[in-house]
Amino acid sequence: MRKATGLRDKSGGVIMTKKIGFIGLGNMGGPMAVNLMKAGHDVLGFDLSEGALAAFEDAGGACAKSVPEIAAACDVIVTMLPAGAHVRKVYMDEGGIFENAKPGTLMIDSSTIDVDSARAVAAAATEQDMLMVDAPVSGGVGGATAGTLTFMVGGPAAAYEQARPYLDIMGKTIVHAGDSGTGQAAKICNNMVLGISMIAVSEAFVLAERLGLDAQKLFDISSTASGQCWALTSYCPVPGPLPSSPANRDYQPGFAAAMMLKDLKLAQEAASTSGASTPLGAEASALYNMFCNSGGGALDFSAIVKYLRGS
Ligand code: NAD
Repeated sequence: MRKATGLRDKSGGVIMTKKIGFIGLGNMGGPMAVNLMKAGHDVLGFDLSEGALAAFEDAGGACAKSVPEIAAACDVIVTMLPAGAHVRKVYMDEGGIFENAKPGTLMIDSSTIDVDSARAVAAAATEQDMLMVDAPVSGGVGGATAGTLTFMVGGPAAAYEQARPYLDIMGKTIVHAGDSGTGQAAKICNNMVLGISMIAVSEAFVLAERLGLDAQKLFDISSTASGQCWALTSYCPVPGPLPSSPANRDYQPGFAAAMMLKDLKLAQEAASTSGASTPLGAEASALYNMFCNSGGGALDFSAIVKYLRGS
């Protein structure tokens, strides 16, 4: 049994010092790993990209040469990878985490991936006496850097309890959503609401323009009436009413339309495998697909208003 060292989480609780492996040091994973390090943890990073490794080293991090090196050396492993295929490969393939980690290792996958992959990897972890949670995030690169991410966590209560102190360092709001896969389910359900509501708000502004109704007037009325929603009042898709929204800076993200499309596609995949009826989710996915194919993928997702307007 290791001795508590006095390292504390945000709420003042003592955390046992553990060696943390962090795989996927990209836009999100890089700053998340740095925050764990700043909190006093010994973090060993790995990424396939030389640039990502160099940036982590520049921030004071130590880098491993391979996934097996991380798996064998660490008590806690965090992954922040692009998609389900990458997660399955890093955990389950030959030379992956499961083949090389010690029993009892805690695994936190914060990538946004399909629910089926999250459940398959979690089941394999349980079979090998390892604790695992899916813990996708919202909050973007800004939240990752500031340590204010929201974590939606799926997995057994024991795994959640063990993961919590590390999530507390990287985030501000941590919710245990239920069993394995429910963290991913929460993320895609929420973002399906967001994608649909952003399209609805954008359509209303386009219609208002055609009808000669001033955008500010529509905002003033709808923001205090039954059309009120986050897409309108916290992220207004037209410039003017809300100075902080990306519409006022040429739709620089923010949350890129390509990332919204990724999440809407994951929601459609999950709707199809679970038999849920999501006609508006399907339409939102199709619209964002067309917008991204027309060159809008790197813009903020609220720029869908330009596509609907035809400008
Ligand atoms: P990113 O592409 O910047 O980073 C992913 C990193 O994983 C890359 O550096 C890549 O080299 C590395 N990688 C891929 N395969 C690997 C492997 N086999 N071994 C080791 N490293 C590997 O992506 P990101 O923006 O950091 O996003 C990561 C995840 O977080 C995604 O699932 C994304 O959907 C999710 N997410 C991103 C945001 C955002 O605003 N960027 C917000 C919420 C959630």
